[in-house]
Amino acid sequence: MNKNFIIVILGLALFFTSCAKKSETTTTHEGAVSTMQQSTINTIIDDLVKKHGEAQRNRIERCVNQTAILWQETDGDKDVFHEFCMNNFVGNAEDLDKLFNSISMHYETLIGHFNKIALDMRRPVHLEGYEVTPIDELFAGYDPFANIQKDFYNNKIAFCITLNFPHYTLAEKEEMGEKWTEKEWAYARVGDMFVERLPADLLQKYSEILANADNYISNYNIFMGYVVDDEGKTNFPQDLKLISHWNLRDELKSHYDNPQSINKMRIIYEVMQRIIKQEIPEAVINSNKYTWNPKSNKVYENGKEVSLAMEPNTRYEHLLNCFKANVELDKYRHDNYIDTKFSNEFEMPQANVEKIFKEYISSPVVKEVAEIIKKRLGRDLEPFDIWYDGFKARSSINQEELSKKTSALYPTPLALEKDIPNILVKLGFNRSKAAEIASRIVVEGSKGAGHAWGAEMKGEKAHLRTRIGANGMDYKGYNIAIHELGHNVEQTISLYDVPFWFLRGVPNTAFTEAWAFAFQHNDLNLLGIKSNDPNKEALDVLDKFWGTYEIMGVSLVDQEVWKWMYNNPKCNAEELKNAVIKIATDIWNEYYAPVFGVKDSPILAIYSHMIDNPLYLSAYPIGHIIEFQLSEYIKDKNLGEEMIRICKLGRLIPDVWMKKAVGSPVSSATFTEAAKKAVQKLNNN
Ligand SMILES: [Zn+2]
Repeated sequence: MNKNFIIVILGLALFFTSCAKKSETTTTHEGAVSTMQQSTINTIIDDLVKKHGEAQRNRIERCVNQTAILWQETDGDKDVFHEFCMNNFVGNAEDLDKLFNSISMHYETLIGHFNKIALDMRRPVHLEGYEVTPIDELFAGYDPFANIQKDFYNNKIAFCITLNFPHYTLAEKEEMGEKWTEKEWAYARVGDMFVERLPADLLQKYSEILANADNYISNYNIFMGYVVDDEGKTNFPQDLKLISHWNLRDELKSHYDNPQSINKMRIIYEVMQRIIKQEIPEAVINSNKYTWNPKSNKVYENGKEVSLAMEPNTRYEHLLNCFKANVELDKYRHDNYIDTKFSNEFEMPQANVEKIFKEYISSPVVKEVAEIIKKRLGRDLEPFDIWYDGFKARSSINQEELSKKTSALYPTPLALEKDIPNILVKLGFNRSKAAEIASRIVVEGSKGAGHAWGAEMKGEKAHLRTRIGANGMDYKGYNIAIHELGHNVEQTISLYDVPFWFLRGVPNTAFTEAWAFAFQHNDLNLLGIKSNDPNKEALDVLDKFWGTYEIMGVSLVDQEVWKWMYNNPKCNAEELKNAVIKIATDIWNEYYAPVFGVKDSPILAIYSHMIDNPLYLSAYPIGHIIEFQLSEYIKDKNLGEEMIRICKLGRLIPDVWMKKAVGSPVSSATFTEAAKKAVQKLNNN
């Protein structure tokens, strides 16, 4: 919930890894070449080895090479570089530790205060009780972090860091990380800070391309009141305007309650296929000028059929522009964009992610779940049933009664803040730890649904923003607030209790979401109410299982499309469109058609993020797996004790974190096993 804000928070942590990339000392990407001659680099290495001893050779080689790649002509000539290296390489453990402590102290000051600036300057926009003026919005949009990288190359702090802290590749972290001490991990995170230096003009161009794609997607609405069936009948409210694909999908999902609505679902599916294939008349996008039958693809104006031009592959032009911009940036990276995205941001190799997804979607239990869906629907499956929404357990507890209870308990933000120690004790924290954590969380009334914004320096508090109406907090608000509290508690433990500031946080957003959902899952327990549906847990598992099955297919299409573009860098938009349709259909036919009994659907290519947020989609299923694995592990344990033990690990890489947390690496096996049990439970009723 409110992941945007969580992303903002983690964005601060990710700031350090945003450039983290593979940097071998001997092999570099053909583009990422130093402006420095290899002979100069070798001379410096020899001189440093003479000065500090043979035992330091390995570290000297790695650090001088990685610094040379980042050093540009404007930073100084080879003599300046030579002198800089001789003066700034630290050759003994004691001084290196002093350097590490200084960097930690100053970065905590810097990031902690910048975070506070960002938080405070958004107060009018986020909090109740402020009138928002245009200038407030400008301040809210200001990013205090924007220039740190540039400034620290200019003043050479970046080079002091790269000259002393080797950057380890993901493969090296996977290989050695389990045995690393906490301090070795902290040193490695310092080494992740400055790994690539992308030219500002290329970054600017890339951000314009992304903004254009975002603008294209943001304005891609379908006026459903003007979409007709073969009888010329409109099936949707006249003013219903749906953005592709999110609203189209959600509208489709909303009709599972009513079997009579299948016609509407089929119409939406037709619309989606026209978008994917770019067979949609351009003039029906974001316009109600014409009436359109997506099945026959005929368009009418005042009842008369008219002939209109189709959208000219614009969807794929945006994707192609994004690819080309990345090819330019690749010249300054150590890997291509696919590996950069997976190894750097997710810190899981793409091949590993692909393997986990394929294991999951080809698991035999998928067919068993599909059989249950068929039975519940009373019909055969159609491709859009990847969005089947009927596993949501309908609560039999009256929401109004719940709201009465929550609004009496929490009439104000302060009432919730004061109750946090009790909530934490109920969740298994001991009383003194509960009081300590609660003293580091402040609750404020928000304008929106709410969010959790953590601190970035000790001494500062995490902020829980929650919506409380004039009559107190209703149940919906309470449910979200408990979720956000889970984030705040994670943020607090993983800032205050980690061994080093550079290890604060969790490996990625999925890990903090896991804690938030673990809290949210307990919302009724905290009110002293027990769930009365014996199938609730099994239904929950299948709901998550089916949703993950859907988004994994979508993510695999995204990954394959990027691989295809790298293999066909000179393609045009028409060729790219055909490739996307083929890839989506092939994945459908291999993994989905045997389950659905329908071949050749391109539906997995409909997601808008494939166009405006390159390779982001895989974050969802990775997140679902991690959340599920963690929630299964803690469900019969003391949440408070486990949360303290696990959050103290800090920001390791996902696999190492998971092994230390639950005893096994990130894997889909827990999920598929739980789905099997849920199927058995439902079939036995
Ligand atoms: Zn959340």
